[in-house]
Amino acid sequence: MFDQLVGNDRVKKLLRRMLEEQRLPGAMLFTGEEGVGKKLFALEIAKALNCRSPQGVEGCGGCPPCERITRFNYPQGSETDDWKGIIWTDHPDVGMVVAPKRVLLVDQMRAIEREANFRPFEGKARVFLIEDADKLNDSSANALLKVLEEPPHTSYIILLTARPAMLLSTVRSRCQVIGFSPLTASEIETHLVENRISGQAEARTRARVARGSLGRAVGDEFDTFIEQREAMLTVLEALAAGDDRTQLLHSSEDLNAAPVKDEFEARLDILETLIRDAWMLSLSAPAESVVNYDLLPQLERISKRLGGRRPEGWISQIEEMREQLIVNINRKSATDALFLTMAASSSSTLPPKRRFLIK
Ligand SMILES: [Zn+2]
Repeated sequence: MFDQLVGNDRVKKLLRRMLEEQRLPGAMLFTGEEGVGKKLFALEIAKALNCRSPQGVEGCGGCPPCERITRFNYPQGSETDDWKGIIWTDHPDVGMVVAPKRVLLVDQMRAIEREANFRPFEGKARVFLIEDADKLNDSSANALLKVLEEPPHTSYIILLTARPAMLLSTVRSRCQVIGFSPLTASEIETHLVENRISGQAEARTRARVARGSLGRAVGDEFDTFIEQREAMLTVLEALAAGDDRTQLLHSSEDLNAAPVKDEFEARLDILETLIRDAWMLSLSAPAESVVNYDLLPQLERISKRLGGRRPEGWISQIEEMREQLIVNINRKSATDALFLTMAASSSSTLPPKRRFLIK
């Protein structure tokens, strides 16, 4: 059932109508960011077409064909050869191709064409997914054109991509393009809570990190974010304490350490949200206005220790340093200076002038 999928109500409506009117295109191109559910929607179509006890025009999700459609038999090995064929699901009419390396291969497209020409073995229709269709090169794209042009009426080919502009126009023009929108934070949050993936407070944070992609909400990216935020929370704690120079210099070193160098900007972003949160709490703003809602107890504790310190000044000091980073300054020294200046500033002094070292 489409209703079990998150977001993209417009797409659900469109696909439902196409199924009702029996005019589902044989070649479709699903576009939209990674992790918004393109593949799940494609599999939902496969279920709708092959379900044993359909609910209206949709798959029930619970009958044996519906269940088997969700189980892919991924190759065990990582050798390119293992990934060269069609990866079938436990349903003999539903399969997918994935680029073994950087490109989708001509042989894979030929396999799809060959299989699409067979009548369904078990259900009413055969469905083939092409993952990361932007990995078609000229040859493999051309090998696909014929079957896209005139798919046999019992076969459906669904291309998935987050980068539709990379596809040859000859491929795009032969498909019905269906665009998926990023999910809203509240759609993601509700999904995580309803499916017991996380509690309310964490769900809100995950939804924010996700930036529209359910994949990101539950993937590695979230763990990375949590790690970065932990480090920045330590900085905020040291700033609130005011005199923990050792910790601040240590944090500056961590922030500039080689493995996380690319995360420098992201970490400063996070530090700013933490400062803003503590600041809001110190002004007795409602807890709901806090971005890092799952850290509420820690942030409240910090906000009480701010005393006469000026978090809004800290934010402008960070911003000032970021501007200077555009020109050639020594980032490590600038961070040292930034943290120490922030720690030293209090309500009685105006935000200090630029004191960052120019290389
Ligand atoms: Zn079913």
